[in-house]
Amino acid sequence: MQTQEKVLIQALPLMEDFYTIQGEGFYQGTAAYFIRLGGCDVGCVCCDVKESWDASAHPLVSVEEMASRAKASKGEIVVITGGEPGMYDLTLLTETLKASGLRTHIETSGAYPLTGTWDWVCFSPKKFKAPDPSVFSQANELKVIVYNKSDFAWAEEYASKVKSQCQLYLQPEWSKEKEVLPFIIGYVKANPQWHVSLQVHKYMNIP
Ligand code: SF4
Repeated sequence: MQTQEKVLIQALPLMEDFYTIQGEGFYQGTAAYFIRLGGCDVGCVCCDVKESWDASAHPLVSVEEMASRAKASKGEIVVITGGEPGMYDLTLLTETLKASGLRTHIETSGAYPLTGTWDWVCFSPKKFKAPDPSVFSQANELKVIVYNKSDFAWAEEYASKVKSQCQLYLQPEWSKEKEVLPFIIGYVKANPQWHVSLQVHKYMNIP
């Protein structure tokens, strides 16, 4: 029987790419090159990058071009974000980045099974589209966005599904930060396996 060769995606819709400081989670404070892919069908009501949703609004850029721009920065980490980057087969993008000596990190809602080779998977589940269960064991970091106190129980549901070494973060939704941060602080003090994540790039006025 003839085996069908997988067609690797050579170009992806690129909304923006930039060199900055990772503001959230485990790598907070670390320089990183961000590649924000266009396209998302998760539909979070409080999404702060709704302009990323329509993939066709963003130009197709080759993976070589993206890797070469990332390599030109001094960063060693490339964060693939979106949108929902898991919508695409990222095998060739990650291969090309790794061949350039860069570390591959992804920020995903887990709505799709992951493709590609990842040095770090930040899994941030959303209530609007259930994650694919295959992502649970691949997550290095679970980052739950907290809107209200009831989200702690929801966060624990996912904490019970990821592997034991997975780093656990609770991050206030930006517009609710003043209201929910005191609850998060109390929760983390009572449940020290969790950590507080703040979007420190927003305090620094950087992207
Ligand atoms: S998954 Fe991310 S990009 Fe997509 S709607 Fe939710 S917050 Fe926005």
